[in-house]
Amino acid sequence: MENYAKYAGKHPEVDIIGTWPEDGYGFCQCEKCRQPGAVLKAVNKVAERIEQVRPDLTVEYLSYTKETSNVPPEILPRRNMAILVANIRVATEWLKKSEKVSGRGVYQLNYHIADNSAHRASLPRRYIACSGRNSASG
Ligand SMILES: [Zn+2]
Repeated sequence: MENYAKYAGKHPEVDIIGTWPEDGYGFCQCEKCRQPGAVLKAVNKVAERIEQVRPDLTVEYLSYTKETSNVPPEILPRRNMAILVANIRVATEWLKKSEKVSGRGVYQLNYHIADNSAHRASLPRRYIACSGRNSASG
């Protein structure tokens, strides 16, 4: 958590910071970590710490496997987070959660978009602009 905060403070050029767990696999299987929403709770703590240093920085949460997608409705992302969904079926639910906290929206993992942004790395992406219902539904 402190490493994220240190990095965020030293790199004002960074607009978004990823918090992917093990590229989606290899989760700890202890009782606490198996609780639904455990990953989001952990990322929320990271996001809270980052917000103290860089409130403008967007913390990316990856919704990919059941550990990161099956999150009870009462566990919400922090407002400084954007949700990256690998499966479009969970996008609407995440969008509702993001809107509840005035968060930074939802976008879908798309390797063409990633490749595109890599070629234009100096242009910040404004996630709020692509988090509308149209992008979430299709
Ligand atoms: Zn554990």
